[in-house]
Amino acid sequence: MMQRLLYHSATDPGSGSKPGPQGDQLRHQHGQPPAFGAVSSRYDKCLQFSQWYPAMLQDAKLIDTKYPAKGFFTLRPWAVRTMKQMYLLYEAALEGTGHEPALFPAVMPESLLQKEAEHLEGFNPQVFWITQIGSNILPKGERLALRPTSETIMYTVYKDWISGLADLPLKIYQSCQVWRAEQESKALIRGREFYWIEAHDVFATMKEAEQQVLADIAMSEKVIHGQFGIPMLFVLRPSWDTFPGAEYTCAADTLLPDGKALQLPSSHNLGQKFSKKFDIKFTNSEGKEEYAYQTCYGPSIWRILGALVATHADERGLRFPFEVAPQQVVIVPIKAKAPADDELVAQKCMQLKERLEQAGIRTIIDASDKKPGFKYNHWEMMGVPVRIEMGAREAASGNVTLASRTEPGKIPVHESQLETAIRDMGQRLNATLKAEADKFFNDSFITCMTIEEMRENKDHRGFYRIPFCSIQDDGGACFDSLKSEFEIAVRGTKIGEDEKPPQGCKCVGGCGRDAELMVYAAKRY
Ligand SMILES: [Zn+2]
Repeated sequence: MMQRLLYHSATDPGSGSKPGPQGDQLRHQHGQPPAFGAVSSRYDKCLQFSQWYPAMLQDAKLIDTKYPAKGFFTLRPWAVRTMKQMYLLYEAALEGTGHEPALFPAVMPESLLQKEAEHLEGFNPQVFWITQIGSNILPKGERLALRPTSETIMYTVYKDWISGLADLPLKIYQSCQVWRAEQESKALIRGREFYWIEAHDVFATMKEAEQQVLADIAMSEKVIHGQFGIPMLFVLRPSWDTFPGAEYTCAADTLLPDGKALQLPSSHNLGQKFSKKFDIKFTNSEGKEEYAYQTCYGPSIWRILGALVATHADERGLRFPFEVAPQQVVIVPIKAKAPADDELVAQKCMQLKERLEQAGIRTIIDASDKKPGFKYNHWEMMGVPVRIEMGAREAASGNVTLASRTEPGKIPVHESQLETAIRDMGQRLNATLKAEADKFFNDSFITCMTIEEMRENKDHRGFYRIPFCSIQDDGGACFDSLKSEFEIAVRGTKIGEDEKPPQGCKCVGGCGRDAELMVYAAKRY
């Protein structure tokens, strides 16, 4: 069952009342969301995602898409504030598992990119080259590539950092942007410049590298699902989707509201492939030199933000998990009849803002001269989790009126309980967002044991769980066949579960062979 959201706005037929407190009250009585005239509210998030998504990014002032270089986007303050919180949480998780931050150069001499042949072949078509400085054309060999990813840059440096067991494991991450000349672009989903974290670890044994890949998956689950509320399927990627130069790739797929899979972080076991090319060696316990074992892990904060917007927004606009929200509380002063009371209200708002900020709660005051109802709608659309309404009565009484982005009605709270009440509200909001996202995701799986069953469900929006021959190169023809008939891509086998089809079950890809695996397939970005 797909979750359907029907949107109403001031421009929709049948929602004639004007924005403002009175109109909103009427709407609430009729069970309709308030009008706010946002473009995104005209579209159904699931059924009209391709119109809804850019409208949402624009309405909430997240992204400016008009920059005159194809595939490059401007991130506006609301997006950057959100990404900062996401970075902080992710970096804390990395540092909590022994990773250290570093920053490496953004360019690489072409000789470095050429060191690992598969890696070069995989990335070369997407590389931006610096071939000229001023009016001087650089001779071949001196050209510089803008990093599409940093294996070759970091490993050139790692070589000098590692000589013995005492230097291992080495766990380094950097938060940076990378550039890839993608043909198609979609803001916060696919672009020529994006912001990510890349963690590159080095170990003395293959076993530790294998364990790190599992630890990376656990981190994705903890941060992206646990803290950002975005559910994912973790799969071992087929050989044809393995990271160029890696032994194997594990990746996380989430599902956008249109039922298409979107890859979130992937983690790669590089084995000794790069260490042999980049001469990363250590002296082992027997006194012999040995090539090190490596992994890399790349959560794209930029893309996770896109998934977060798409996953959590509802008919009123954005919704953010409490810890991620660019602003967690908005204080709306309610205009009083007497100017002296207005003064009191303004002072009270300032006091509360200072107090909440001291408690580490990001707070803004909307002191604009718009009507309160307009402000409520606006900040709901922007996804601020908690609203405080502050009128003369509240200012004088020591009580505060709270409203949550995900709960109906308003809650009066005594000032002494304010921080606790806000944090509790934030936790309830997180639980609501996660539960709704999990339900949508978990309802999106169907199992089809035959090609006929797949044809009966060819309009399915979500993951197909299907019997398949092989995710090594010999399964490539069956991958192509499913791709051409259903426009779906085999994403891989589920990690942590050895899912086998019943005996005698045939591969749905048409090769005629017995199925060896249950795989997951979906339309994808
Ligand atoms: Zn097959």
